[in-house]
Amino acid sequence: MKKVLITGAAGFLGSHLCDRFIKEGFYVIAMDNLITGDLKNIEHLFPLKNFEFQHHDVTKFVHIPGELDYILHFASPASPIDYLKIPIETLKVGSLGTLNLLGVAKEKKARILVASTSEVYGDPLVHPQKETYNGNVSPIGPRGVYDEAKRFMESITMAYHRFHGVDTRIVRIFNTYGSRMRLNDGRVVPAFMGQALRGEDLTVFGDGSQTRSFCYIDDQVEGIYRLLMSDYTEPINIGNPHETTIKEFAEEIIKLTGTDQKIIYKSLPQDDPLQREPDISLAKKILGWEPKVSRAEGLKKVYEYFKSLSPEELQKKEH
Ligand code: NAD
Ligand code: UDP
Repeated sequence: MKKVLITGAAGFLGSHLCDRFIKEGFYVIAMDNLITGDLKNIEHLFPLKNFEFQHHDVTKFVHIPGELDYILHFASPASPIDYLKIPIETLKVGSLGTLNLLGVAKEKKARILVASTSEVYGDPLVHPQKETYNGNVSPIGPRGVYDEAKRFMESITMAYHRFHGVDTRIVRIFNTYGSRMRLNDGRVVPAFMGQALRGEDLTVFGDGSQTRSFCYIDDQVEGIYRLLMSDYTEPINIGNPHETTIKEFAEEIIKLTGTDQKIIYKSLPQDDPLQREPDISLAKKILGWEPKVSRAEGLKKVYEYFKSLSPEELQKKEH
């Protein structure tokens, strides 16, 4: 039985990856320090013989006894609200955490895939974003703690690949949504859905003309799985190229939820990228991958999920 270590396993993406690797017949070691994650995302896996959970901060020395075949490094705060609240932890998990996991990969001769992000392109001057674009990131802006940690992650991963021959993969993930996102993590999908369900007005930041391209979780997991199993070692974009403005997106959520909430406008956070759309021609060519779930279909599923939360969870305010 192949063994995989998944960091950030109690988070949104990590927990869905645990499900997928269990389904594929792997032994899964799930690691998380629960700083933004929640054990309830993986507790259904606890009774399984081929699943174990390790409560551990990956910025501290990581020790895995025995053999290990794969590592998926997904530990990191991912929502702007989270990483602005815990900026040093964000920098540490992208730098020290990645260094530790590359060390484990080297020692175990395991293949490692690291979770990078469209944020490496910053506020992009090239549209849509191709992997060859080097980005427009402010190192000292508030979002720099996340963006630069991920850029460092990519650099050290390529260095371990080139210098130590470690078998590495880098995925650049574009805005992904689905069940198990924290309702109050500040990201736009849970934010709008939560507001609609609580009967509050939807808060659009800026004039809402900024764009994003939203990928459904199942498509994202499929892309990541294919990349891990491929022999491609350069960074690759995985996301849905169907772009929308945030204002149109708010209108779409109001229509979907059948609520008659209004849109209210709040100031645009500093360095909030004005446009974002992945060029996925590389993923299509190398991995034979493209998203299958339309936004309308995906949003309907995730709305069902948020609707199923308890009234207490729905009202919980973190910020
Ligand atoms: P999330 O906050 O739901 O999950 C992150 C998990 O990492 C949490 O469970 C958290 O407790 C854990 N974690 C953080 N620091 C840790 C540490 N030092 N040691 C151990 N565990 C730690 O976020 P997510 O959306 O699931 O994102 C997962 C990964 O994917 C992140 O690396 C993120 O940068 C990347 N990513 C996500 C998106 C997206 O749209 N969801 C986009 C781009 C990149
Ligand atoms: N956004 C918004 N209202 C909210 C939350 C987010 O208008 O309540 C905007 C945010 O300014 C950004 C877009 O939605 O332009 C996506 O934000 P998110 O935090 O989901 O992801 P990211 O900015 O990292 O792409």
